[in-house]
Amino acid sequence: MVAPAELRYDGKVVVVTGAGGGLGKQYALFFAERGASVVVNDLGGSFKGEGTSTKAADLVVNEIKSKGGKAVANYDSVEFGDRIIDTAVKAFGTVHILINNAGILRDISFKNMSDEDWDLIIKVHVTGSYKCAKAAWPYFRKQKYGRIINTASAAGLFGSFGQTNYSAAKLGMVGFTETLAKEGGKYNILSNVIAPIAASRMTQTVMPEEVLKNLKPEWVVPLVAVLVHDSNESENGSIFEVGAGHVSKIRWERAKGALLKTDDTMTPSAVIKKWPQVNDFSKPEYPTGPADFLGLLEAAGAQGPNEQ
Ligand code: NAD
Repeated sequence: MVAPAELRYDGKVVVVTGAGGGLGKQYALFFAERGASVVVNDLGGSFKGEGTSTKAADLVVNEIKSKGGKAVANYDSVEFGDRIIDTAVKAFGTVHILINNAGILRDISFKNMSDEDWDLIIKVHVTGSYKCAKAAWPYFRKQKYGRIINTASAAGLFGSFGQTNYSAAKLGMVGFTETLAKEGGKYNILSNVIAPIAASRMTQTVMPEEVLKNLKPEWVVPLVAVLVHDSNESENGSIFEVGAGHVSKIRWERAKGALLKTDDTMTPSAVIKKWPQVNDFSKPEYPTGPADFLGLLEAAGAQGPNEQ
């Protein structure tokens, strides 16, 4: 990746969802300061997804305009992503960069979780990101240019007590991104996913003040800025953890595994006997797709019988 000294976004139209506060606000301010036209989307509800207000988005738009930047507000829920992209097209003619950032929490133990807690989280994070990307996609395809950032979470990658709904939605963002990357790459549509950590109203109730002051949302912005810039021509379908000044890529690891003969000796006890190999990460692979099942079947066929 060869980049100019200062990354700029002149002529680019950026849609940031959930840009009324937290991370989204910092993305919006950054891209506007660096020359982009920005759609500041925010539903303006509580962090649990209750209520609506135009105030959050308006304040950010006013701040951008007062500094001489270009921005318009959109107050729709991301569930209506087509309306958000319409706002971009009406105001600025197209969309080049989509930051799927809007999000809410409904933390509760799995035992006590209601269907509503589950459905709302899936609707905002998964369906919301889908709707925005789906509406932007035809513009990206036509102009052979698009950059998408989806937002996952460590909760999705590793699990987190009281967040089964959120974890499912956030890991969903990983699969969504990996497939968008595979479909979009040849049209210069690059999609990446971040698992951020930052002080915001989402984290202020679960983290002590001492920790929060070292987690500025501004410190997540530079990675996103790099990934969506023109100078990124190859980073696509990647997962990053970012926060507190730390930026790192995350990838899948596949154990060497056991190969069992595929005949009637392939029993549960044969699997148990091979357990150490199933768990053997001494010579791992870093897969970007499923195992080569046909090759494995062929190799398994050539094996001697499994031990009984
Ligand atoms: P935040 O609550 O400050 O910001 C989220 C914004 O999204 C809010 O302004 C909210 O009004 C808006 N929003 C919520 N539902 C919406 C909807 N349906 N349509 C449009 N806008 C909506 O939280 P944040 O910490 O800045 O979170 C931003 C993203 O980062 C979220 O997707 C969150 O899940 C993710 N994330 C944050 C952290 C963290 O440490 N802050 C960690 C992991 C993931």
